[in-house]
Amino acid sequence: MIRILALLLFAACAPRPSVQAGSGAPATRAPAVESGPMHAGQTFRFEVPEVSGGRWFKGNTHTHTLNSDGDTPPEQVARWYRAHGYAFLVLSDHNVFTDPAQLAHLADSTFLLIPGEELTTSFQRRPVHVNGLNIPHVIAPRQDSTLVGTIQANVDAVREVRGVPHINHPNFHWAFDHRVLAQVRDDKLLEIFNGHPHVHNQGGGDVPGLEAMWDSLLTRGKRIYGIAVDDAHHFQGEFAPERSNPGRGWIAVRARRLDAGEILRNLEAGQFYASTGVELEDVVVTPSTLRVHIRQRGDFRYRTEFIGSGGRVLARSDANPAVFTLTGEEAYVRARVLDSGGGAAWVQPVFVTRDQS
Ligand SMILES: [Zn+2]
Ligand SMILES: [Zn+2]
Repeated sequence: MIRILALLLFAACAPRPSVQAGSGAPATRAPAVESGPMHAGQTFRFEVPEVSGGRWFKGNTHTHTLNSDGDTPPEQVARWYRAHGYAFLVLSDHNVFTDPAQLAHLADSTFLLIPGEELTTSFQRRPVHVNGLNIPHVIAPRQDSTLVGTIQANVDAVREVRGVPHINHPNFHWAFDHRVLAQVRDDKLLEIFNGHPHVHNQGGGDVPGLEAMWDSLLTRGKRIYGIAVDDAHHFQGEFAPERSNPGRGWIAVRARRLDAGEILRNLEAGQFYASTGVELEDVVVTPSTLRVHIRQRGDFRYRTEFIGSGGRVLARSDANPAVFTLTGEEAYVRARVLDSGGGAAWVQPVFVTRDQS
């Protein structure tokens, strides 16, 4: 009984995400006291993120310039993103450090350049590409005697300089899948959408798509978050599906201010959503509910799917906000919002804690 009271107290005191998302309408608030459901002496609740204040900052963490195999100088690439409403950008050339200090004149209170690199190597002709975000200088890519070891060595190389790694396009040249990714440590971010035309986001044949790989990792208990990126190379000439153009995949990170440290901390804490077109007003987590507030665009229609272990769709909603109420059977719940134009947003998984009472 004391335990139950303590939980209720915890729920009452748990910080609520009171986020003002851009200029959107204020979010519906949860009741003042709320605990998760009870099953046979166990209490279940969503882990409520410790966030207060803040707004969404749109950004892209994977883009190339003339410094590697892009077709446009860094300055013009950065200008493209700034002109298209992005708040932050990582120029991630292959094994080249494109120093944002040389573009400092483009940065202001509304646009941040975070230094980065795409550590680019391979193992037995399987590409291993790992982005390093907020790194101080170029990092030489590393190799190892195994595929897992090669991925791990590059993740470690980024961590050693206190950067943030993300693992890129697993299905590029069908390089590796969730069975390999499950063995990698210290990685919190996985590309689940990459805008390059040759990366096989959807999988094919007997190879799963990136979202299915993500669910496989989450189902095994790995806490990993899904990002969407451009991997843009082509800013010149025609924009076409078979070209690697910008603007296709991005993330919106919740933060109080546009600061590289805070943006990356919140990114690695799952305080963001990934998107190919759908924008969100807010994501509100209470101990027993997950609410997704969608930013209405014109007369677009939306369907939200709440997804749990094994990639199973637990519930669907056509409402805005879309609300999922915890039953106690779930280990994690994430949401995917699809719009009538083919765009999507991916809300990061919320994990379920179980307490014996
Ligand atoms: Zn790559
Ligand atoms: Zn790339």
